[in-house]
Amino acid sequence: MKHPVTFVSLGPGDPELITLKGLKALQQADCIFYPATAGPNHRVVSRAGDILKALGMPSDALQPFFLPMSKGRETAKLVYAQIALRSIALHEEGKKVAIAAEGDAGFYSSSHYIYDDLTERRIPVTTIAGIPAFIASGALAGIHVVKQEEPLTVFPGTVSAEELRATLQEGKTAVIMKLSQCEAAVKVCMRQTAGHVWHYFENVGLESAFYTADCGVIEGKRFPYFSLMVIKP
Ligand code: SAH
Repeated sequence: MKHPVTFVSLGPGDPELITLKGLKALQQADCIFYPATAGPNHRVVSRAGDILKALGMPSDALQPFFLPMSKGRETAKLVYAQIALRSIALHEEGKKVAIAAEGDAGFYSSSHYIYDDLTERRIPVTTIAGIPAFIASGALAGIHVVKQEEPLTVFPGTVSAEELRATLQEGKTAVIMKLSQCEAAVKVCMRQTAGHVWHYFENVGLESAFYTADCGVIEGKRFPYFSLMVIKP
């Protein structure tokens, strides 16, 4: 009997924000691959790993894969290709393979490279949806992210100040993911655009979570990797 390779969304960081279905899939898995980076002194840094350990996943099932810290796309692609091959080998042996991803596995999730690779090789795959970080952020701040007929535009970290300003001036709500990549552009736009509330979030779902809607405080911040914004008219 062979089982589909399952992409499990872990949620934004609070271990309790995984779905019941996701948790069951992890508990049944023989092998759980998850992304990590090698920090200073070879220390393993992994938000996904922290969630998996907090959920009580046995260490013999846990298999980190190491992604380059910088935007080394080519190296990362080789790593994804290796994980795809290892998943296929385990799948062929009848093992249950889970591939864990932070937030939702289909929303700005690089685990999708593995998904695409497996699909191309006709390996059965399935994805379990999860709570994306921006939805958890809305809950943390108690904001109605969008209401009634309001549209929502989600930007990655490549957004320019002009692009963001144009969207806000149309009265749209904007979410900015990968905020650390566009810190300067966002700050320029924040200084030049009046009449919006800028909700800033860091490490949502963790003890170190931070939220402010004070532009003065945001101005003085260095945006870390795990930060995002929701900007409302
Ligand atoms: N799949 C994830 C997004 C991954 S892209 C999801 O569904 O949310 C990585 C970006 O997500 C980060 O740069 C940051 O902008 C955001 N992010 C992920 N987790 C976060 C958290 N706990 N707190 C704040 N931002 C987070």
